[in-house]
Amino acid sequence: MILRQFTCRAVVNACTQARIRRLAGSREMAKPSSDLAAFRDFFAKAENIAILTGAGVSAESGVPTFRGAGGFWRKWQAQDLATPEAFSGNPSRVWEFYHYRREVMLTKDPNAAHKAIAECEERLGKQGRKVTVITQNIDELHRRAGSKNILEIHGSLFKTRCLSCGHEEANHKSPICPALKDKGAPDPNTHDAQIPVEQLPRCERAGCGGLLRPAVVWFGESLDADVLSRSHEVLDSCDLCLVVGTSSVVYPAAMFAPQVAARGVPVAEFNMENTPATTHFKFHFQGPCGTTLPAALARHKSEPN
Ligand SMILES: [Zn+2]
Repeated sequence: MILRQFTCRAVVNACTQARIRRLAGSREMAKPSSDLAAFRDFFAKAENIAILTGAGVSAESGVPTFRGAGGFWRKWQAQDLATPEAFSGNPSRVWEFYHYRREVMLTKDPNAAHKAIAECEERLGKQGRKVTVITQNIDELHRRAGSKNILEIHGSLFKTRCLSCGHEEANHKSPICPALKDKGAPDPNTHDAQIPVEQLPRCERAGCGGLLRPAVVWFGESLDADVLSRSHEVLDSCDLCLVVGTSSVVYPAAMFAPQVAARGVPVAEFNMENTPATTHFKFHFQGPCGTTLPAALARHKSEPN
């Protein structure tokens, strides 16, 4: 089953994308509408809204992805360093990479899309309606914008997991450990800091002291079973689904949005692509989501003041 392979994080290749398109094509409908008023009619009635967000939302805040053309840290891209093999082979280098990403986030802020989602969750919550964010982003910008109901399917830059005792916890220290202070420069000429493993972030639980790793889902690793099952519960119960800053043919929306559309629930995409590869969703709004989303999620005239 095609959806099953997506429970493991992988770089989606052209062949897989073609298979998703074929799968999607079996439910092909008319071209998606970009009629905002029609979307707003569904929005006004929705009681349980799922919002899937991807890298595009973070990109509008200037968060680097280390993917695609020009997306390098030193001479590597995320898929070279965000793997269990890279970490076991060179934990110092991988920690430098994640330390850099954590420090970069101190200079970035939630944008208008993050804020519109958070404001919508709070406002609808007071009306007894529910908004859940299911995000692949690990930068916590949704949380910083004020969203509370968030499922981070790829984990967080600001959580660690102990390799010895398995303990997972939030960690917002800057730097995360003294040895990483001023390390992690992205310039391709920078040499590895080669920090001894005992000076890398270590578990502070009494009697443990094990090596910590970022609590993110690396390529080749399975998604957290609990987060995945809670995501499916949301997708199985929502009555409106938004796919924001990612294409519905690209992981992870590819594994979720078709499941929702198959129930006959309206799905609306908000992204930069002008030619969505699938036509099985009801709405598509092209442009920066910081521009399109606030208008889509603003207070509807039918809502109480
Ligand atoms: Zn531990």
